[in-house]
Order: sequence, then C-alpha cells, then structure tokens
Amino acid sequence: MIQQTLVLVKPDGVARGIVGEIIKRFEQRGLKIVGLKLVKIDEDFSKKHYAAHIDKNFYKGLEEFIVSGPVVAMVVEGVDAIENVRKLTGATESKSALLGTIRGDYSHISYSHADERGISVKNIVHASGDAADAEKEVALWFSVDEIHSYKRAGDEHLL
Ligand code: ATP
Ligand code: MG
Repeated sequence: MIQQTLVLVKPDGVARGIVGEIIKRFEQRGLKIVGLKLVKIDEDFSKKHYAAHIDKNFYKGLEEFIVSGPVVAMVVEGVDAIENVRKLTGATESKSALLGTIRGDYSHISYSHADERGISVKNIVHASGDAADAEKEVALWFSVDEIHSYKRAGDEHLL
C-alpha cells in the first residue's frame, strides 16, 4: 500500500549539517519526498506534535530539545512508507539503534545518560509510528497545497 509518513530532521541534525545525508537515505531507498520545509516550532506546537508524551517524565527535555532550533519537516511517500521509514530511522535509544540506521550511524547516547541530565535522547530524526499517527502528523505539519504529486525518474523500476 502506498503511504505517506511524516519525518523530521530534529534540531541536532539540522545544527550538525547532516540534513542532506539524511534525505539521501530516503531517496536512495526509492522513497519519494512529496513535502519539504524548514520550520521553527514553539512549545504549543510541540504539545500538539508530542501529545501522546505530555505526561511522560521525559517530556520537558523533549520539548526543550524540539523547540531549540529549526527542524526540517518532510512528507515521505512510498510502498509501506511508515514501516520502511521507521526501519531506516532505527531504534529510539541511540545506543541501541543498529549501525546502518540513521540513529545508529549518527548518534550514540543512552536513555540513562539522557534521563540523568533531564535531557532528551538527541536522536536526529522523528518518524511517524503508525498509520493513525502518520495521518495526524502529516495534517498537523503540512497543508494540502504543500504536498505534491509528481513522477520521479526511476519510478518505473521502483513501483
Ligand atoms: P519519534 O517519535 O521522535 O520518532 P520514537 O517514536 O522512536 O521517536 P517515542 O517513544 O515516540 O520514540 O519518543 C519520542 C522522542 O522522545 C524520542 O525520539 C526521544 O527523542 C525522546 N525520548 C523518548 N524516550 C525517552 C527517554 N526515556 N529519555 C529521554 N528522551 C526520550
Ligand atoms: Mg514516536
């Protein structure tokens, strides 16, 4: 099934100048970028995006992190895009993320390191967790006219 999913390059990824490296991995796998922008969100928007986590003990650090600088927001499209993107992203805890995944290749800290300091695990990317989240998150971050349908060279080999 062709799906759309929301991906963010979080403030750490933007500040480290690895946006291109990250986008490359989605393009390389044949997934299509159908929406793309640089956005600086505020605390209210963070509470909408991370509504499911507001009551968790790591939320304060997560909010401080996600509003600390601009993020690159994108809508990524492809066959089973939600699962495919999560696989490219890797496990939430950077320390546990497998090498070859974005989090595994570009970050390394543990939950315990983050929790001791009251900071978020700075794990480079966000990716929607399931179909319901993807639908909500794409609609939160992008208007309909910011999402584009187009044919990419090579689609005939990929789809
Ligand atoms: P994301 O939603 O950002 O794609 P995820 O779905 O892999 O990540 P979630 O459980 O939704 O993981 O957590 C959201 C984010 O909160 C994580 O990506 C991480 O930055 C941070 N986080 C989660 N758990 C912790 C924790 N125990 N300590 C510190 N930060 C955490
Ligand atoms: Mg999540």
